[in-house]
Amino acid sequence: MRKLYKFIAMLLALIMVFALVGCQKTAPTNESSLFKPGTYTGEADGIHGKVQVEVTVDENKILEVKVVKHDETPGVSDSAITNIPKDIVEYQTLAVDTVAGASVTSNAIIVAVGQALEKAGANLADLQKKPEKSSSSGETIEKQADIIIIGGGGAGLAAAVSAHQNGAKVIVIEKMPSVGGNTIISGSAYNAADPVRQGKQGIEDSVEKHYTQTYEGGDKLGKPELIRTLTENAYPTLQWLEGLGMQFKDEVFTVLGGLWPRAHKPVKPLGTGYIETYMNYIEANKSDIEVMVDTKATEIIMENGKAVGVKAEANNNDVILKANKGVIIAAGGFGANVEMRDLYNEKWPSLTNIKTTNHVGATGDGMVMAEKIGANLIGMENIQLLPMGDPVTGSLSGNIEQGVENRIFVNKEGNRFVDEGERRDVMTSALFEQQDTFMWVIVDKHSYPTGDTKNNFNETIDQLVEQGRAFKADTLEDLAKQIGVNPENLKKSVEEFNKAVEKGGSDAFGRTLFKDKIDTAPYYAGARVPTVHHTMGGIEINANAQVLDKNGNIIPGLYAAGEVTGGIHGSNRLGGNALADINVFGKIAGESAAKAK
Ligand code: ADP
Repeated sequence: MRKLYKFIAMLLALIMVFALVGCQKTAPTNESSLFKPGTYTGEADGIHGKVQVEVTVDENKILEVKVVKHDETPGVSDSAITNIPKDIVEYQTLAVDTVAGASVTSNAIIVAVGQALEKAGANLADLQKKPEKSSSSGETIEKQADIIIIGGGGAGLAAAVSAHQNGAKVIVIEKMPSVGGNTIISGSAYNAADPVRQGKQGIEDSVEKHYTQTYEGGDKLGKPELIRTLTENAYPTLQWLEGLGMQFKDEVFTVLGGLWPRAHKPVKPLGTGYIETYMNYIEANKSDIEVMVDTKATEIIMENGKAVGVKAEANNNDVILKANKGVIIAAGGFGANVEMRDLYNEKWPSLTNIKTTNHVGATGDGMVMAEKIGANLIGMENIQLLPMGDPVTGSLSGNIEQGVENRIFVNKEGNRFVDEGERRDVMTSALFEQQDTFMWVIVDKHSYPTGDTKNNFNETIDQLVEQGRAFKADTLEDLAKQIGVNPENLKKSVEEFNKAVEKGGSDAFGRTLFKDKIDTAPYYAGARVPTVHHTMGGIEINANAQVLDKNGNIIPGLYAAGEVTGGIHGSNRLGGNALADINVFGKIAGESAAKAK
């Protein structure tokens, strides 16, 4: 709730700033001028704290807007941080469009600039005129390349790079204002049986074990051929990424619902490392790879049963993109499309009011377009929820767990209720049975040796406590009081967990993944609820990422990769398998399409 209040408070502040300055204008030095020349500062609340700006004006013009300090999520807020200042200067107004998917950050910048301009003596009411954009000329833009890729998330960009490495010229279209999709905001763990890192940590693993856990973890509903391809290529593709400059940490870990310590964590926060790596390559080869943002694919163009291009829209212009060799659909899942979720959901209670970890562009467009031209969709009913959503936004940010072994979940009574190393669907089903479908994650100093230790989302534990998104105490009693659970129950839950850590083997819930006891202050608690995370169903492909029709035949010229595809994860995706999936199959799709005759 706190964040919602904060957001409402910020909007009120925005309205008040505009209302107030309408009546109490500070006159600039010269009556006919708009501003008192100089550089002014302003600040407002973003998602993760203050956003500070510096605004330079002369008598009549906003010359420059700079965001000088912020703690917004890297990648996700980038387009707001770049575009809002640019638009304010270009159109000389505060009534600029907020950036989809980064509206809180956008509004914070607008409010902060308003504050700075007020100091410069501006009449903010005069700065509320909507700009007239002349971008929609209504013409048809036509382009051609060997390969057209729909979607600039991890799978689409992997495909673009590998297609280019195999000699193709590529156009990637992305409907949002910036690339990244769900990939850039993901927890970013990448599963691979890794002889080097796991060897050093003494962890026994193999491609076979990864295969078996993936197949069985999805209730044997995944296609064996695709799971083989995924697990056999996971490590070579990770090495390919490293060859492109991507850095992973030395230690592997067990990610939530990953069932085994084979998750690789990028050095850069969230999924920014993958996107930056691919975009660096693309930037270096931009004469051959074009990325068109704000361009939404609407239709696959077919000729004699073959995919030969894509129809799209950009700023109300029609766009026709012709493909010499093939079209790759990499448009992601439908986790943010409530109607589609409700249409396909069979397993969960209604998902209408469940929030999502997904970015707003995850609306299933790729599946809808593919089905229209005869592609087979499989496993659409398999929708993955995580028990790890922020109660206000549904996002994974604010999650205080650092791997599976060192944390427990307790309900509102302070009792444990599930094996916290279980499959994601099992943990989430158990959470639905708890009061208010709500739980607390409990950790201690082992997870946060210092207050500036960061979680997976680049947030320090001190920041989370300060923002009221985590609670901190020197004793379990005090922690229980702060979060309103029964102290005796919480102490007993932790004591029994600690005994199980000592004993090893399997505890009363069947948990086998343990490392440290929860016995060292400070203790921390963070609230979590179920959230829609991943849609496992989608377009059916073969091991070459070629799209199949309803009779199992290849649709010539058409490829798909990433969350838009189905048939890999079955009924339940292992944590850490999505990043492996999108990179492995993105790379394969690019290669296959580039090598097509
Ligand atoms: P994956 O992990 O499979 O790459 P992502 O969610 O990371 O999936 O990326 C999918 C990308 O596709 C997102 O950036 C999304 O905005 C984009 N996208 C979705 N629908 C369309 C569309 N109709 N046209 C262009 N891009 C699209």
